[in-house]
Amino acid sequence: MVSKVYFIKASLSQGEQAISQKARRLFKTGGFEKCFRENDFTAVKIHAGEGPNTTYIKAPCIKGLVEELQKLKTKPFLTDTSTLYVGRRHNAIDHAVLAAEHGFSIDVLGIPFIAADGLWGNSETAVEIDGELNKVVFIASDIVRCQSILSIAHFTGHVATCAAATLKTFGMGCSSRKGKMRQHSALKPNTNDNCVRCGECAKYCPADAITIDDVKAHINADKCIGCAECLTVCRFDAIQYDWGAENAILQKNIAEHAKGVLKGKESRAVFFNFIMSVTEDCDCFDKPNMSKIVDDIGIVASTDPVAVDKAALDLVENKSGKKLAELIDNDKLNPMYQFEHARSIGLGSTDYKLIEVE
Ligand code: SF4
Ligand code: SF4
Repeated sequence: MVSKVYFIKASLSQGEQAISQKARRLFKTGGFEKCFRENDFTAVKIHAGEGPNTTYIKAPCIKGLVEELQKLKTKPFLTDTSTLYVGRRHNAIDHAVLAAEHGFSIDVLGIPFIAADGLWGNSETAVEIDGELNKVVFIASDIVRCQSILSIAHFTGHVATCAAATLKTFGMGCSSRKGKMRQHSALKPNTNDNCVRCGECAKYCPADAITIDDVKAHINADKCIGCAECLTVCRFDAIQYDWGAENAILQKNIAEHAKGVLKGKESRAVFFNFIMSVTEDCDCFDKPNMSKIVDDIGIVASTDPVAVDKAALDLVENKSGKKLAELIDNDKLNPMYQFEHARSIGLGSTDYKLIEVE
């Protein structure tokens, strides 16, 4: 199967209003209105950007898309779920406040932000799938209950999955805490002799799994839930894990949870990847002004979540002339695990036709 992926060139230097109009043009050209019905509760899945992160896709960039949903008389709501790690998006209340501070609010977009997994991230629905690793996945209840989904993803690198875009946003970002923990369960990091005992990893560890003695930090494997937060915050390359085997399992788990998210809504979902401000780490990283690893490229959109990610990856690698793993300085990672597994379980196609929109 060859899926259609619509593409429009865009750069943040053109301004947020221009980006919004370009996204709207893709929506119309792609004929995506057919995926939404009057009175649908439509989840607009966003990432509000962790704390001081400044490279997330800004709220005004999606205003045109929200307006298109409103014209169709759906009931759109901005949504995301609680993170495993301790931060500003760790529970629904802090998350909603942060989202509003970052412009994802009624004031700016005319629709509310509602966390899909309840106050504490445990409002979940068990969804049966026929996956290789999972027969049941745990998805945020209000994602399961809504009738249609508009997914807004920001294409970036990622410390454990290489690429973070639609499948990652979906599989991980629409799962409950339990679902997230099950996806991460294969990741079991260790510390090495580079450790300088700075304590950052222990501060961020959501499972209280890290202790620091006179020599170095130690990870209690029985407590560790594999969230990879320590990998993200350690600046001394002192946390390691088996990148090859474990990132493949993590990515397969992500694809299988994405399958659970979409179950019953396969023709009621549209996926946008914004390929601009492409950074080495994802928007969960609470650092301002992270450097771009490639110049802004544009926006891709499709009804196929696999094709839209593969197209975004190809655009990034073609533009830079480098593999994404090389761009994020970790050649042990391979983003294809998630795409190939998603394809094998019937989530979409890695073959696509790119249709450029002026
Ligand atoms: S963040 Fe890194 S260097 Fe600091 S204590 Fe943890 S493992 Fe050691
Ligand atoms: S030790 Fe690292 S991977 Fe394990 S739970 Fe703590 S922060 Fe997450």
